[in-house]
Amino acid sequence: MKYSYLLFDCDRTLLDFNSAMKGAITKLLLKYGVPEVTDEMVSFYDAWNNSLWDQLEAGLITKEELVYARFPVVCSRYGITYPGKGKMESDYILFLSEGHEPMPDALDVVKKLSEKYKLFIVSNGFIEVQERRVTESGLRPYLCGSFISEEIGFSKPDPRFFEESLKQIGDFDKSKYLIIGDSMSADIQGGVNFGIDTCLISKKKPEGYDYEPTYVVGELTELLKGEIL
Ligand SMILES: [Mg+2]
Repeated sequence: MKYSYLLFDCDRTLLDFNSAMKGAITKLLLKYGVPEVTDEMVSFYDAWNNSLWDQLEAGLITKEELVYARFPVVCSRYGITYPGKGKMESDYILFLSEGHEPMPDALDVVKKLSEKYKLFIVSNGFIEVQERRVTESGLRPYLCGSFISEEIGFSKPDPRFFEESLKQIGDFDKSKYLIIGDSMSADIQGGVNFGIDTCLISKKKPEGYDYEPTYVVGELTELLKGEIL
């Protein structure tokens, strides 16, 4: 067997982040007085939030700056009075933690792989949100642990995120590890920076990057076919 440890990204790899995010921003805007939440509002927030995460992953802003930059912009666009630092932010975290829909086939694939490999979650996110979602999704029984950036103190693709995770796993043989995820900038670049093999979940081949994944699969079930693992 080529690998012993499979490091799975969480959002958009095992859990349906879009559905959790959509539920959370909808509940939040309704709570703060928007009478009807439209698709445009959800898309606007999604794009804005993604651009902040890109900046965080590029080291341009801190986690705290990301947290407090999210809602003032949304409020001014939709005529909500921003209630001051902390209120919307903590409501949003609570609402987000309530969303735990797995990606298609995720539970089945993880269950089967857990019979042969040690599985861990490696996620950029908040402890409170990610741990609750992982538990409520039903993934927990198949995992040996989870590494969340807020807890580790570094985010993917920083090699220190992986160094700390391996320290906790207790096996430093990098050839035994494979990271599996949907993000070139966080998961694949993270694995490449750290020196472990990588598997991108993507319907199309990535283009325009100066690094590439070891493997590309279109969907999670391809991991069961045995060509990679
Ligand atoms: Mg992801």
